[in-house]
Amino acid sequence: MIDLSKLTIKSAAEALKKKDFSAREITEASLNAIKEKDGEVHAFLEVFDDALFQADEADRRIADGEELSLLGVPIAIKDNMLFSGHCSTAGSKILEGFTAPYDATAIKKLKEAGAILVGRTNMDEFAMGSSTENSAYSVTRNPHDLGRVPGGSSGGSAAALAGEMVLGSLGSDTGGSIRQPAAHCGVVGLKTTYGRVSRHGLIALASSFDQIGPFAKTVTDAEIIYDAIKGRDSMDSTSIDESTYAHRKEYEKVIGVPRAFVEEEGVSAAVRKNFDEAVEKFESLGYKVVDISLPSVPYSLAAYYIILPAEVSSNLARFDGVKYGLHVDGENSIDDYFKTRGEGFGRETRRRLILGTYVLSSGYYDAYYGKAQKAKELITSELRQAFRSVDLIMTPTTPASAFKFGEKSNPLEMYLEDIFTVHANVSGCPAISLPFGKEGDLPLGIELTADLGREDNLFMAGKDFLGE
Ligand code: GLN
Repeated sequence: MIDLSKLTIKSAAEALKKKDFSAREITEASLNAIKEKDGEVHAFLEVFDDALFQADEADRRIADGEELSLLGVPIAIKDNMLFSGHCSTAGSKILEGFTAPYDATAIKKLKEAGAILVGRTNMDEFAMGSSTENSAYSVTRNPHDLGRVPGGSSGGSAAALAGEMVLGSLGSDTGGSIRQPAAHCGVVGLKTTYGRVSRHGLIALASSFDQIGPFAKTVTDAEIIYDAIKGRDSMDSTSIDESTYAHRKEYEKVIGVPRAFVEEEGVSAAVRKNFDEAVEKFESLGYKVVDISLPSVPYSLAAYYIILPAEVSSNLARFDGVKYGLHVDGENSIDDYFKTRGEGFGRETRRRLILGTYVLSSGYYDAYYGKAQKAKELITSELRQAFRSVDLIMTPTTPASAFKFGEKSNPLEMYLEDIFTVHANVSGCPAISLPFGKEGDLPLGIELTADLGREDNLFMAGKDFLGE
């Protein structure tokens, strides 16, 4: 039996090409691992019943001599990406039983690259959360400690990989939902430059921040998935191509550390110590690490938690009980609408809908939404200015390691989990979380952010750092 814990995407793709094993065999190994472990972890909401058909098709393509980067490789996808003919619920009751009528572009591209899509993974409802506790279906457990959260909102995708049930997975990152669970689960997680991966067919959370991206065991594997899914798409007018950010600074291995921000209150002692060790490690690898000042960047969190609910309140208006999923009968159509949304949406979603409607209301628009947009511009220009002299900015990914279920019942405490990740979404910059160090037995992550369009810098530094 194939042991997925001994394989990466790269090594599996090579073995498949050499016919050391077949796509069917590795897919069976993935399905068996899910059967064996997912009863405890609950990373998956559904295992697709056509996984073995996909595998047989991949075996035919391998026999025909096709060479594709993901041919025969088992991958999991987050429950907010449309996969034609399969159910997609975004972790919400309001979409229970909804069948996707077409493929999201990223899914189409994964299929074109030959990936086997084995199942859809659990997530916080509509990707709002940092623990996957907001899913309407179940909690997902951290494979490193079943009493703790895997992070969120893409907790299922991170746990499926960390639990050795697949070789890679897709998540979506609007404020940190790939990087934060990657850090808590000890894997690599990449948030791409805004527009790098098409959002067509991704169930929208906040359209100006959302990006699909990979979870992988190595930076090399993350890059393989990234190469497969990126690119301009006529179905997403905000998607970009290689020429969009053409002004290229030469890579000089200079990393900026916003000291004041990193040493912020609320960061655990283990995370601080680990961060210092990461600095030393980069220095020993020939990197120059310099202190920089980013006074506006800490305000990213406040700006994010105004802009995000505003966009949520608009995007989620489409769930009216008529067009998709759940419908609850009331006295009249307006009552249908209230009842459907009242029953279909969970607590956190309702909280953000109310918040979003409030910050967009005519009396408060300038004070909140308008101000947050100005802050967003300031943060973006501050970061872009910094990238004139440094190639990367380094912070911890999270203020501490994975927490226990129920530990962050105060929503504001939960929002603070995103303190180091949201600047990348607010500015559109790409960022990666690299597994490094531990707090007790729990993994920690180091985050690198690069200038718009400079995923190449993240890959170079990430590979140097992890010794790939
Ligand atoms: N934790 C953040 C939130 O709750 C991030 C969400 C995300 O990236 N999808 O909004």
